[in-house]
Amino acid sequence: MNDDHKSKGYRFLELKVVGDEEMVEFGQLIGESITAPLLITLIGDLGAGKTTLAKGIIASQGVDEVVTSPTFIIQREYEGRLPVRHLDLYRFSGARSLDLMDIDLFDEDTLRLVEWPNAVEFEVEADIEVKIESIDDGEARLIRITFDQNVDERTYETIASFAGRS
Ligand code: ADP
Ligand code: MG
Repeated sequence: MNDDHKSKGYRFLELKVVGDEEMVEFGQLIGESITAPLLITLIGDLGAGKTTLAKGIIASQGVDEVVTSPTFIIQREYEGRLPVRHLDLYRFSGARSLDLMDIDLFDEDTLRLVEWPNAVEFEVEADIEVKIESIDDGEARLIRITFDQNVDERTYETIASFAGRS
């Protein structure tokens, strides 16, 4: 697994984010660092903080609408600097509508934020994969990020400098 990642030029980052506000701030930094409409997957248990991070990323695109979880409607779109699609595939287990999935997930002109990517039966290949885990009795989150090789070096460097903050 690690060797496979290395040969494909994947990069990793790990950081701790404390509280809601910093989570949104980190999402904003991720969004500001992005120059292309990437596919970002947000992975973690219910209550991990996926939607909170998505809020920051969506705000970074100049969207001032209130962002709410698309759990029941599966997808919500926003007109930002990059057009944004926020998807929650939690209720999609079994991928009943693959056609719809194709349109939503493979639209490369759109910044796609995908919660529960593993709910569908095919592999969702992220440009940036974000795994979130609750730590410190729920007071903070451990975030692990994998960058595909096609992600801009500056995007990685910007996020890495936030990760390396003291
Ligand atoms: P998910 O979309 O993964 O189900 P949410 O984004 O709705 O999770 O967040 C669930 C809860 O976690 C919210 O109460 C939110 O305030 C809290 N939370 C989010 N990020 C953090 C963090 N970094 N530290 C502590 N609590 C957080
Ligand atoms: Mg959510």
